[in-house]
Amino acid sequence: MSTDSILRSKIIDGKKRSLTIREWIKSEILKLKESYNFIPGLAVIIVGDDPASHIYVKNKEKQSIESGMNSWKYILPSDVSEKEIIEQINKLNEDSMVDGILVQLPLPKTSSVSERNVINAISPEKDVDGLTIINSGKLACGEDGLFPATPSGCIILIKELSLNLAGKKALVIGRSNLVGKPIASMLLKENCTVTIAHSKTKNLIQECKNADIIIAAIGIPNFVKGDWVKKDSIIIDVGINRIDNLDNPKKRIVGDVDYEEAIKVCKAITPVPGGVGPMTIACLLLNTLKASCIRRNIESPIYNFTV
Ligand code: NAP
Repeated sequence: MSTDSILRSKIIDGKKRSLTIREWIKSEILKLKESYNFIPGLAVIIVGDDPASHIYVKNKEKQSIESGMNSWKYILPSDVSEKEIIEQINKLNEDSMVDGILVQLPLPKTSSVSERNVINAISPEKDVDGLTIINSGKLACGEDGLFPATPSGCIILIKELSLNLAGKKALVIGRSNLVGKPIASMLLKENCTVTIAHSKTKNLIQECKNADIIIAAIGIPNFVKGDWVKKDSIIIDVGINRIDNLDNPKKRIVGDVDYEEAIKVCKAITPVPGGVGPMTIACLLLNTLKASCIRRNIESPIYNFTV
């Protein structure tokens, strides 16, 4: 095999996998419509006018509709009060057409609204972002629930490498509620030996060198270097960082791992873009489908996707 094809064979293609998941969701929604005469629906609340957040929400809306779901978007002004956001959430909690509710984060920096209060106002059975205290607790306790989409996407990609994960040393770099902590719980459930690193961790390079699996969720471009990585390790790069492009005014997106160097050493790696990113929306739609079946007491193969 040429060097090029060896390197290509190491790429974990999240874009391709997310497409197959979305096709599967589409076919399940058609079946639900025929058998039970309903269509799952996702409601998204966005506060303020941050362009990046609006792009994320637009993509969620587009992919929900393409999958055959109902989709609703509520745009609230950046000076909206916590009470008004929670009133909107309560309306959606009570709306029987709505299966999933998501508040796009982060809320505007200028807002004095508590993100935790807002998130916890979402009914746990409609919490398709898996961020309420109830669903976070269920994940930490190893119970079934609705869990955050990005970590779920990472686990689907790792599991498809068909490794025996039991006893593998997994290093999660980052301890956010959105990514680091839930993915650590999920890896623990897979019987990995999990280390969580953060900005105060000592000897991070050595921790990386010891790890069979590295999940990088830091938010610093190309932070994990190729020579930190153990031979034959699995690398999941969650980072999405926009950096300047030398010969092009458009920004370029890179991950938290120095991809060009790491791919030469590791066994498999997710690219950025095209790795974890596309899996996030696919897993959000999976959660919405799952929430819709649970709420209506419908047995569904969606449960096979539980991570
Ligand atoms: P976050 O809330 O800012 O958390 C970053 C974590 O990295 C923190 O726990 C921080 O440690 C740790 N960290 C910072 N500097 C470090 C250092 N020098 N050494 C070790 N750890 C360090 O970010 P996040 O929301 O988890 O997101 C992380 C990245 O993933 C971002 O690039 C984000 O854009 C991306 N992301 C991608 C998706 C997707 O769909 N692919 C979804 C969500 C997020 P402390 O806790 O000590 O501060």
